[in-house]
Amino acid sequence: MLARPEDTAALLEQDHAGDGDTWLRLCEEYARLRDPLWRALLTAWPPVAPLPTLLRRIGVTQLPDFARFALLPASQMGRELFSGRCAGEILAGNAMHADIPPGAPGSGMDGWLMTMLAQDVGVPSPTGGTAPLAEALRRRAEAAGARVETGVEVERVLVRGGRATGVETAGGRRVRARRAVLADTSAPALYGRLLDRDVVPAGLHARLERRFTWDLPTLKLNYRLIAPLPWRAQRARGAAVVHAGRDLPGLVDWAADLGAGSVPDAPFALVGQMATVDPGRAPAGGEALWLFTHLPRDARDAGAVEEATTASERMLDDLAPGWRDHVIDRWRQSPADLEEADPNLGEGGVAGGTMQLFQQAIWRPTTGLGGARTPVAGLYLGSAATHPGGGVHGGCGHIAAQLALRDARWWGRPLARAGVGATRRLQAEPPRW
Ligand SMILES: Cc1cc2nc3c(=O)[nH]c(=O)nc-3n(C[C@H](O)[C@H](O)[C@H](O)COP(=O)(O)OP(=O)(O)OC[C@H]3O[C@@H](n4cnc5c(N)ncnc54)[C@H](O)[C@@H]3O)c2cc1C
Repeated sequence: MLARPEDTAALLEQDHAGDGDTWLRLCEEYARLRDPLWRALLTAWPPVAPLPTLLRRIGVTQLPDFARFALLPASQMGRELFSGRCAGEILAGNAMHADIPPGAPGSGMDGWLMTMLAQDVGVPSPTGGTAPLAEALRRRAEAAGARVETGVEVERVLVRGGRATGVETAGGRRVRARRAVLADTSAPALYGRLLDRDVVPAGLHARLERRFTWDLPTLKLNYRLIAPLPWRAQRARGAAVVHAGRDLPGLVDWAADLGAGSVPDAPFALVGQMATVDPGRAPAGGEALWLFTHLPRDARDAGAVEEATTASERMLDDLAPGWRDHVIDRWRQSPADLEEADPNLGEGGVAGGTMQLFQQAIWRPTTGLGGARTPVAGLYLGSAATHPGGGVHGGCGHIAAQLALRDARWWGRPLARAGVGATRRLQAEPPRW
């Protein structure tokens, strides 16, 4: 669904005079930077090729302020740019799609990018849910000559002479890899389970064990309703996704509770109303509703899940009184359920690890060269565990595939050897800092 910048600006202008113009200015700045900015974000780190164009578009004299803008916490960005309440809440609510607290550096950029993408291209949602997206990928791979097998667990990555030579499945079948193994797994699974311990440098083990941080555990409640959710707020009716439950100061409190390890009394939640964009997913005339919130990292047991469920449903009582009368049934996915369904969702996190700055770029999943390179030749990590992280953007797999293809060329081989060697050296010793 695409909301035009002018429509958003008109609403923000009603909230506070001048905020509409500021919004349009932000959209214009985004449009100027968009192409090189996304190329820089969705390419291997460091983004050497798109950087000159990006820097030229930003302008030398504006660069220090752009760098500052990129580091702003969402709460500060809203306060600096706008005089009213609503624009800052849009930025902060969008920032909360990742797990960077609204008072932490980088969350503002996250909110700005999400919001600007929504204004620019909308928020795409595949008809029929995510399964058709996976099917489309399968069709495309098969059309290019690939053989796709699903439902087969890989238990080991085989390595000989420091090079990945294939994989072994749970059934004991060995699949040889002539050129490369691309792992779409979590970092702890690849380095801690799938590879023999002695092929992984000691310093990488140390960093993973002591430092690697999952993103916040997720609780997802799914409902079938006989009628749309009876929101008090008219504008929430018909919106595909609603940021519900907390205003900006409330978001700061909510994130602080999560950081302190307690289940927040009142949650912040993303609430999806799929019938608004894809009625086929809901009962006729009704709604396919999901509610997505987080638990603290250290409190995600059954008791915490129950507490957060109760708080989330109480929130809906306040925002959409009478909603319970519409419920046909509920299906709950706790952090443990999510991880059981997909081992990449460690501790119920959905982004392959925290998206905070300390675990981004060359620090994702742990200190290295950034991107898909691993310390084993011919083995690439192409999941959300690597830069640019979680989300259905395909960037991580694309970067891994590009690197594997480059390494396989005659001129890429010396670069590959140098890259693996540098990675091994960087990760040989445990960190002193
Ligand atoms: C409920 C939910 C809602 C989300 N909503 C959004 C959203 O609206 N927008 C957005 O951009 N992102 C969203 N995300 C996040 C996004 O889905 C993930 O960040 C993204 O899918 C990560 O991609 P990936 O390739 O790293 O891992 P995955 O998509 O998890 O794919 C990894 C696949 O590999 C399989 N696998 C793992 N280990 C093995 C093994 N050893 N052997 C064989 N197979 C294995 C897994 O089962 C899985 O099928 C959501 C995530 C969840 C869970």
